[in-house]
Amino acid sequence: MSEKIIAGNWKMNKNRNEALDLVSSVLQDLPDTSTKVVFAPPYLYLEEVARMCADFSNVKVAAQNCSHYDKGAYTGEISAQMIASVNADMVIIGHSERREYFGEEELILSEKVNKALKYNLQPIYCVGESLDQRKAEEHFDIIENQIAKALFHLDEESMKKVVIAYEPVWAIGTGETATPEQAQEIHAFIRKLLTDQYGEEIAKSISILYGGSCKPANAEGLFAQPDIDGGLIGGASLVAEDFVKLIEMR
Ligand code: PGA
Repeated sequence: MSEKIIAGNWKMNKNRNEALDLVSSVLQDLPDTSTKVVFAPPYLYLEEVARMCADFSNVKVAAQNCSHYDKGAYTGEISAQMIASVNADMVIIGHSERREYFGEEELILSEKVNKALKYNLQPIYCVGESLDQRKAEEHFDIIENQIAKALFHLDEESMKKVVIAYEPVWAIGTGETATPEQAQEIHAFIRKLLTDQYGEEIAKSISILYGGSCKPANAEGLFAQPDIDGGLIGGASLVAEDFVKLIEMR
């Protein structure tokens, strides 16, 4: 069975004090749950956040990106090995903002997935179509391409470690969320792609998260869908009360 996960992607928000306050508040009110809770703060705070979460076995820490290079003369880059060395557990790869503003494409993203796995970081690999692509009814092809090109070179053991997040670009930060039915349709499609490639047992064991304006007011319908294992939460993860509520709801 796939794991239930609520992951907070803070993006480029919070100074150090605000960051530590947010983590303290969430940990203080952490519901008693087996749901995996993930904080994805900016790189700078990973080490400290990981230390704060060390005693909570179901709380994990993720970077928001990693380099596709291993190490060396790549000014400004942060490697998967560095992220692992400060006791982070996971890394978000291929978020639509990385694709859109930093030109990241599948070839590079597949390398990032490899680097994450090499250093024992669990990748949260993001996929999603733009509004134009959905209007042109290309969304299934887009998602298939994003998944096949960046993940399907992996062997079974590696694939089992990957988390996938479906985030329709038109729903990210816009306040407009996919309906539970729209999200479920894509999640079922992703599960089918995984089944065709790796078999049912592995497909069922992989967590598929929904992301895009997911908040307490709309999460119930989304989390009730059979193929939605949790959420990758942006805006609502910046407010302790909302994030705790989402953990409770999952
Ligand atoms: P949002 O962001 O919840 O603010 O829409 C989600 C994400 O981009 O991961």
